[in-house]
Formats: sequence, C-alpha cells, structure tokens
Amino acid sequence: MQKEPKLVSSLCLCDGSSTLVNTFIPEVLPNEVLIEVSVAAICLTDIYAARGLISCHDGVILGHEFVGRVVKMGQIKYSNKEKNEIRVGDRVAAMPFIPCGVCNDCKSNLSWQCNQGDMLGINRNGGFTQYVTLPLSQVHLIKNSLADEINTFAEPVAASLSVLQAPIEKSQKIWVCGTGRIANLCTFILNEHGYHNVSQSLAPPTKSYDVLVLIQQPEELVQKNSAQNWIKNLSSDGLIVLKTRTPDKLFIPINQLIKKRLRIQAVNYAPMPEALAFIERHVTFFNDLLGTFYSLQQHKEAFSEAQRNIEQKVFFEIKSLGLTDSSRA
Ligand SMILES: [Zn+2]
Ligand SMILES: [Zn+2]
Repeated sequence: MQKEPKLVSSLCLCDGSSTLVNTFIPEVLPNEVLIEVSVAAICLTDIYAARGLISCHDGVILGHEFVGRVVKMGQIKYSNKEKNEIRVGDRVAAMPFIPCGVCNDCKSNLSWQCNQGDMLGINRNGGFTQYVTLPLSQVHLIKNSLADEINTFAEPVAASLSVLQAPIEKSQKIWVCGTGRIANLCTFILNEHGYHNVSQSLAPPTKSYDVLVLIQQPEELVQKNSAQNWIKNLSSDGLIVLKTRTPDKLFIPINQLIKKRLRIQAVNYAPMPEALAFIERHVTFFNDLLGTFYSLQQHKEAFSEAQRNIEQKVFFEIKSLGLTDSSRA
C-alpha cells in the first residue's frame, strides 16, 4: 500500500454556497468502508443544497449519487451474507440514506423506509470528494460491467422505483407531472411494469385522470390562488403520489381533497439491488441520459449546466489518488 495522502479536494457547502476545499481523508469506523469515488452525479437535491434551499450541515461535503471502489474496510462486526461478499477493490454504489438502525422499519429489515437517518450530502459527508466513508450496510456491490456513470443512476432509480409502492391499479389513468429525467424515468418504469395509461406533462391533463404522480411541481402548486385548477380533473377517490423533495411549499386545496375524497401517498425508496438490476436491464435508456463530465474544480460550470439541462445527468469525474494497490480491476 502506498503512503496515504492526508488531504483531498472536496466540494463543501460553506456559508450557503458550494466551495472547493481541502479535507482530510475520513477515518474508517467499525462496520464502515472507505470508498474511492470515481464518478459522482449532480442531482436536483445537490442544487437545492448548494443554493441554501435545503437545510444542511454547514461544511458538509455535497453529493449522494456516486460509484467508486472500496479501498479500506473498518472492523466488521456484521453478519449479512450479501454484505460479507464485499471486499477491498470491489466496485460499489451507495445508498445515500443512512438509516438510524433502531426504529421499527430498521428492525424489520426495511431500513430503506427508515425516516430518522442521515442523508449523504445533507447532514453527513457525501460523494463530491475523492474518499467517503459509509456503513457497509449501505454499500451495494456492482455486479454488471457497465460504466461507472451508468451505475450512478442507482440512487435516482431506487427513488423512482418507489412509485410502484403506491396503490395504483394497472387500469387507472396516471398523470406524471414533470418534464425532466426523473419524470421520464418514472413514466418508463410505470410502462415497463404494465401501466399503459400514463401521460406525462407539466400542465394538468384536460381530461379526467385517476392518479397524479407529482415529480416536478407546476407553477400552480406554489401559487395559492391557482392551486384549485391543478387537481380539477383528478377523479373522485383519486390518488396523489408525492415523489418530489421540493423545498417549496405545496398549496393543496383542502376543499377539493375533502369533496373528492382524495388520498395522498408519499413514496421514498425501493431497495438498491432492484435499482441496479433495473439499470442492467435498460442500459440504452440510461445511455441517452448521459450529459457532460466536469472536474470538481469546474463545479460552478457543472452546477449551472445541471440546472440548465434537466433532461440529462451532469457528472463529476473524480481523479483517484490510488490509495490501494490491491484493486481487482
Ligand atoms: Zn439524487
Ligand atoms: Zn430507522
């Protein structure tokens, strides 16, 4: 093993804006692994965080969608067959939500549904850096031979696949509200799973529909006066599926909710292995989503491109320091 360099470049949130700073390589605690990041992708959440629209720990390293290699493992006191397969040198994707480990969901092996944990890039250091630590439980072996950038879609795919947890019937008319890549991904997932009555747009449908999947909020939703129009054509007993982490307030017309007996179902994540398997089945879909690559030093250009281009993903190609010489590549 080479002598470990102490400082690395990290894109942090400092005083409400993203700043490139030198940070120390994090110490690896028991049951954690150290990941050498190769490619990280910019998500809307990162843009909100970098603009101070989401409350984050000051000084936190941004980023939660990344792929890298395990270069170091802490003392592992953990018995999970799948996790015990992970070794130094393995290529992995990260589930960026770190569950609390003690709530009922966590204790019932439904840790991806935990609502009390930490999120990488928000309140725990994320992946816009060269080295990041994660609990082994949140690290997922990449078994395919697809490019790293394709596998960075694991987190948004896990988030999008959660739409299937909502109580939607195959025959129902679904409106996916949004025009960006997550909306496209949700429509694609719904079609792939046999929901064929799906329309996608930012403007509300002019004909009646049964389910609204809210990915991106239309202007009407943030303006109190026009909120009534927004769910005008949603049928009685209809369903609103919340699949957005918007930092804005939503104006939901309560009188329409009551009159039409509408239901709201929020969804969060599906398990990461399902997301990785989905990516492997649909490589061509993800190939079309690849946007521009930047270095961490070009973070300002990268963020403005990510904000402009909502159809494609913008990436940070992160230079490795080569902490390990035992890579299996
Ligand atoms: Zn994301
Ligand atoms: Zn929990």
